[in-house]
Amino acid sequence: MVNKENTSLEIKNAKTDIALIPVGATEQHASHLPVKTDAFLAEKVCEEVAKETGAYVLPAMPFGNSIENMEGAGTVTLRPMTLRAVIFDLTESLFRQGYKKIFVVNFHGANFVLKPTVREINYEGKFNGKVFYVDSAYGKFEGAKMDLHSGDVETSMMMYLWKKKLSLKNVKNVSPVYNRADLDWVGMVSATGGAGCWGFPLNATLKKGKKEFENRVAFVVKEINRILGLYNNIK
Ligand SMILES: [Zn+2]
Repeated sequence: MVNKENTSLEIKNAKTDIALIPVGATEQHASHLPVKTDAFLAEKVCEEVAKETGAYVLPAMPFGNSIENMEGAGTVTLRPMTLRAVIFDLTESLFRQGYKKIFVVNFHGANFVLKPTVREINYEGKFNGKVFYVDSAYGKFEGAKMDLHSGDVETSMMMYLWKKKLSLKNVKNVSPVYNRADLDWVGMVSATGGAGCWGFPLNATLKKGKKEFENRVAFVVKEINRILGLYNNIK
């Protein structure tokens, strides 16, 4: 795998035509996790995935669509159309560099615009290659239905991957009366009674974080291999 730590020559010599674009966010993650959480996890998982697939992994896109978290200090959001434009520009750059299989790997649940964007780029078909979408944010809801934000899964993963020690002093488990879709009109902080977390952070353990990280890497690798298997067949 090659990434931002490599020289241009090293990236050229890697001779891969697969690239990964991890996409995160910079937004409030309750009182115990850093605002970088999504982007940090996106990059960690994708770098591990790239080791197994030999891909060129870009630095994680640190900004996403975080309108639902704008009540929380430190949150910044792009408008959906700005994120769409960023993905258009990044994929065009990669196509021009000779990459033919570009994977947009999403780690933030509210980056909805990524999916139609990928479809639109492929529909335009201006370059020799395809863009694929892998939703790793989605993966975490399976088996952890309401652990939506700064909960058990994210907190466990940060315990395992983040060098700093987490303080769970002021943290509580929160199960709001809202549905996830209600975040269209109510902010995350309001919906969670000011806690800013939706789920079960107090259930987090480092051991679960390791397992979740490994599962997430395995899920993305499997999905990439599945797509490449199909794509290489039809080419
Ligand atoms: Zn998050």
